[in-house]
Amino acid sequence: MRFKNSYKAAALAFVATAASGSQAVAQMRVVATTPDLASVAREIGGDRVNVVALAKPTEDPHFVDAKPSFIVTLNRADALIEGGAELELGWLPPLLENARNGKIGSGAPGRIVASEGIRLLEVPTSFDRSKGDIHSLGNPHFMVDPVAAKVVAANIAAHFAQLDPKNAAVYNGNLAKFNTRIDAKIAEWQRALAPYRGAKIVTYHRDFVYLAQRFGLSIVDELEPKPGIAPSPAHLAQVIGEMKSNNAKVILVQPFQNRKTAETVARQTGAAVLDTPQQPGAGGNGTSYFDMLDNLVRNLATGLGAKK
Ligand SMILES: [Zn+2]
Repeated sequence: MRFKNSYKAAALAFVATAASGSQAVAQMRVVATTPDLASVAREIGGDRVNVVALAKPTEDPHFVDAKPSFIVTLNRADALIEGGAELELGWLPPLLENARNGKIGSGAPGRIVASEGIRLLEVPTSFDRSKGDIHSLGNPHFMVDPVAAKVVAANIAAHFAQLDPKNAAVYNGNLAKFNTRIDAKIAEWQRALAPYRGAKIVTYHRDFVYLAQRFGLSIVDELEPKPGIAPSPAHLAQVIGEMKSNNAKVILVQPFQNRKTAETVARQTGAAVLDTPQQPGAGGNGTSYFDMLDNLVRNLATGLGAKK
């Protein structure tokens, strides 16, 4: 009898501990496909959310190494934030299928598609994936435009408030703070790049079009003949000619792109290769979205200044 009672008491105590424990850590489990989206989600969710990114900061968001552990992470998620516009088409759909989590199913409140509400650039007039173009719904690299990031932040805040209504005021307050901070930063970044308005740049992939539009830079060409298609000697010869005739002096690369190819082109054109990662945490560029853009703008301004 005594044993039974003490067992019962222990069981009750365990339940009470588990309940208070779960209350203390009642954070929403948020999964983001890429670190930039994860960073914005942390700004909006604060201590109400636990955010993990699937892609490493140094990985190509189009071609992420899909680990089996991602399926477990997605299975337990309360929300998923994806870039959308087919950015993750090559790796995310099979993971979601295996994760079998209705909370993050297509159209569920827990499924947050960042591209919704973004006016995508380069939307093709005809839908054709057969030519190997991996931007067949338009250009999905909009996060590097801080004004687009504001749209994404608002989208995330609206979904978080819907999923967790008792903390809606927290999410909306964090969104207001994010907007105030990014507006000040946008003005700062505009000032830093103002001397280089109209500067000609070359990129490896078509991943800087939103940044170029926001800050008034002019993209001459890409080393890839088409998004997702590796540079060919014939195409590179054409790019070298264009760079010489346009006096383009910088080539922007990200960590997962072939820097050697960029260096070869740079040698033949007197250009500089600039390391401009778009993901926070890519090494030396901080851990937040703000750090990443600070670093990117600084590298760009320094590189363009040196070649002016
Ligand atoms: Zn792309």
